Amino acid sequence: MIKYLSGQNLKKNSGKTCLLRVDLNVEQGMPLDSYRLEAVLPTIKLLLKNKVRVVLLSHRGRPDVRDKKQAARDKDALSLLPFAPIFAKKLQTPVAFIEVARLGALKKAVEKSVDHLVLVENLRFFKGEDTNDPSFARELAKCGDFYVNDAFAVSHRANASVCAITKYLPSYAGLLMEKELKNLGDIIDYTKHPFTLIIGGAKISDKVGVIQNFWSAGRREADDVLVGGGPANTFLRAEGMNVIDSLVDGAALPLIKPYLNSKKVHLPSDLKWDKTAILDIGPKTVKEYAAVIKRSRVVVWNGPMGWFERKEFGNGTKGIWKAVLANKKAKVIIGGGETVASLQLVNRGITRTERGMTQKRFRDGLRDIRVGRRIWISTGGGAMLDYLSGKKLPGIESLK
Ligand code: ADP
Ligand code: MG
Repeated sequence: MIKYLSGQNLKKNSGKTCLLRVDLNVEQGMPLDSYRLEAVLPTIKLLLKNKVRVVLLSHRGRPDVRDKKQAARDKDALSLLPFAPIFAKKLQTPVAFIEVARLGALKKAVEKSVDHLVLVENLRFFKGEDTNDPSFARELAKCGDFYVNDAFAVSHRANASVCAITKYLPSYAGLLMEKELKNLGDIIDYTKHPFTLIIGGAKISDKVGVIQNFWSAGRREADDVLVGGGPANTFLRAEGMNVIDSLVDGAALPLIKPYLNSKKVHLPSDLKWDKTAILDIGPKTVKEYAAVIKRSRVVVWNGPMGWFERKEFGNGTKGIWKAVLANKKAKVIIGGGETVASLQLVNRGITRTERGMTQKRFRDGLRDIRVGRRIWISTGGGAMLDYLSGKKLPGIESLK
């Protein structure tokens, strides 16, 4: 059984220290102030309100801990320090940033700091985090009285601060984790029909597990699978079309065999090419897909329909957003870094996303659609796909 933080009497924990695992794994150059960061604020606020000291733990990127020169470069690029002022501003509270040379020194440093909110430097600067090392986890656990996992997006990875640590401290799922499990779990356990699965993006090998899990699966069987992006190219190629230079996931060709020539699977009936490559679904397809979405009661969507970062190829993805937002009756789950980023295509006109995309616009976009009970924007990319594929996520299993 998972114990949820929301069900605990936190007053009893006032004065105690919580080790809170969050996901601050933001690529270098991308905006730090993202919906993933916003999403963990409620848990931090809840703890602080109850006078619990909060020690934020996260990793960022894959720093090289063996090569000294590279490690020094990674230290600057992958530091969590830039997040400290962001949390301080958003929560209106001072944030102590802790960087220690040895993990053994962390406990003292945490105890010494006077602030109620503490951010620890990138855990992957130490050996042991990404190998789920028990002695690393034990050392980390000494820094707090209890542990909360609010990092759904990394719970498909066996990391020490996600898995092994739960052996050493009372452990709970945070508010964000609880919402993720509730929203995604409902799709698996009690989905309504018609249930539509939308799969796009780059590689279908990452996503075919989701199709499989909702294929001839009784109650949770998908009624329609709308395919776009690289996965559509791969299907079309498997059906014998010459897709020339289009993005195709060659390794997946054998994996999609069971789903070829099925009435449930919708492939684009028209395409937008750029010379020799298919870069978007065409307007006729958008209409057909929108009609399926319109009659759906449940929609799960991962993967843009085209190379939406280029203005000319954003219409497919934009059309899906419009259809999803227009269906006020359906329960909608959307996940994946680029899929969520593509929200900016709607209401705001089409702008260049790529690295320059302003995260503010993005947040405003989320506010516009009032992400609530109807639409759940998952913070998980790979984790969401694994969860919806029916796989057991190590970080979630560890909380049981
Ligand atoms: P997510 O991060 O939402 O899970 P993916 O990582 O699978 O999605 O893929 C997103 C990327 O796929 C986008 O950057 C988009 O530009 C690209 N993409 C989608 N369709 C195509 C296409 N037809 N050709 C090339 N790239 C595409
Ligand atoms: Mg992606």
